[in-house]
Amino acid sequence: MKNRPVRVRFAPSPTGPLHMGGVRTALYNYLFAKQNGGDFLLRVEDTDQARFVPGAEAYIVEALKWCGISPDEGIGAEDKMAQGGPHAPYRQSERKPMYRAYADQLIASSHAYYAFDTPVELDAVRERAKQAGNPNWQYNSITRTSMKNGLTLSEDDVARRLSAGEPYVIRVKMPRNEEVKFEDRIRGWVSVNTMNLDDKVLLKGDGMPTYHLANVVDDHAMEISHVIRGEEWLPSAPLHVLLYRFFGWEQPEFAHLPLLLRPDGNGKLSKRDGDRLGFPVFPLDWKNEDTNDTASGYRERGFYPQAFVNMLAFLGWNPGTHQEIFSLDQLIISFNLNKVNKAGARFDFEKAKWFNQQHLRLLSASDRLHTYKQEALLRGLTIPSDVFAQKAMNLFMDRAEFIGDTLDEALYVFTDPTSFDPAVCAKKWTAEAPGYVEELSALFARTDYSEATLEEAFKVYLADKGYGFGQVGPVLRLAIAGTTQGPSIFAVMHLIGKEASERRILHAITTL
Ligand code: GLU
Repeated sequence: MKNRPVRVRFAPSPTGPLHMGGVRTALYNYLFAKQNGGDFLLRVEDTDQARFVPGAEAYIVEALKWCGISPDEGIGAEDKMAQGGPHAPYRQSERKPMYRAYADQLIASSHAYYAFDTPVELDAVRERAKQAGNPNWQYNSITRTSMKNGLTLSEDDVARRLSAGEPYVIRVKMPRNEEVKFEDRIRGWVSVNTMNLDDKVLLKGDGMPTYHLANVVDDHAMEISHVIRGEEWLPSAPLHVLLYRFFGWEQPEFAHLPLLLRPDGNGKLSKRDGDRLGFPVFPLDWKNEDTNDTASGYRERGFYPQAFVNMLAFLGWNPGTHQEIFSLDQLIISFNLNKVNKAGARFDFEKAKWFNQQHLRLLSASDRLHTYKQEALLRGLTIPSDVFAQKAMNLFMDRAEFIGDTLDEALYVFTDPTSFDPAVCAKKWTAEAPGYVEELSALFARTDYSEATLEEAFKVYLADKGYGFGQVGPVLRLAIAGTTQGPSIFAVMHLIGKEASERRILHAITTL
């Protein structure tokens, strides 16, 4: 088992947009594959047609691509063969004809059986059990003896029902009172008695396999070495272990990842929590055209994929050092599946924004400028030149968490202010104010309009007149920017230049 080539898969069901918890599962699979020189596959588990949502598969592929963790093989794989790889198809609905033979094999080896109980009959049994005080009736190694199935009916009867086309399902025959054990990479040894497991359906009446059969058959067929998936699948793992044993196949190693928890730690992080607390729980914006169901995403919120990925990596794992900022390549080197926490990981949106802020600072000047210009375009702003953009961006970088922040607070750099902060006007735009800025404007005109000479001229003016900074500073800011918030006004004036500065001062004098 130790020498198997590493092949892992992300196997989502296309039932809606991919939750960020799913992206983290994909990420951990990807990191593990890459650090072991292995392959990362994307398989779509769409056997439950009732829950199929159009557009979900394309969303998953796009989300992984945005994160930079596209699969090597399977749906969305860019190279290899046109089909996505040697084990195509990678969509379970397209693999439907393959599963039947495996269910038959289990029947032949007495590890599975036909069951003919109708939904109405099953409901009646459940209802009777409920009346008798057992609300959790299960089809299991005890109850199956009084149901209508291949274990209780004669061989002839079964054959007759099958040839008459009577509806049936195929169920696993759970052994009685056996301990199923396996070692999980994250949880250690897991042991479950089969008396606590039920006779799950493996093949449905429509010939479609259930998740359990399809998952195990495909993991084997696709030579998956490690199954890395969310904790919600841990209860299914003992059944999967048994299925590997029944088929006589080598079992992959398992690693069940901790849940993503709400910020208060109480329960699983859901879309509702995001809506309520004002943060996305999906990587990309989503809209279901049929139902008009929508969700907001990190990408559209202005996050960089590298920040989103870095943040996700830390939800359940950390390197055990002080280093928090990692590129994807660095994560490939440092990530350690054995060190993933058992306990759920609490999500913190403030921390997510912090990651973005750090990555914003780490971007190369040209990449940052590129995203800045894109954002400016989205806001309909015209940028005079790259030099101008670079300077404007740098002026507003100090507190920015997102590149968009450097634009939202800087609109007055691009256009003359059309409104002036009324609270500041009331307090600072005194009868003397027009005089201050008029005199200053004349003084500034004699400088070279560099930040330093403008500031110097301003200081000399205050000293000569005996004015306090608080008396004149806000007045100048108001005239130039319409607000008193922001970076050095002299830097702004240098950026917009003499002509615009003088025009703004004149406009303030005549309007205010
Ligand atoms: N189709 C399952 C899901 O939607 C996959 C679970 C697994 O990885 O085995 O998450």
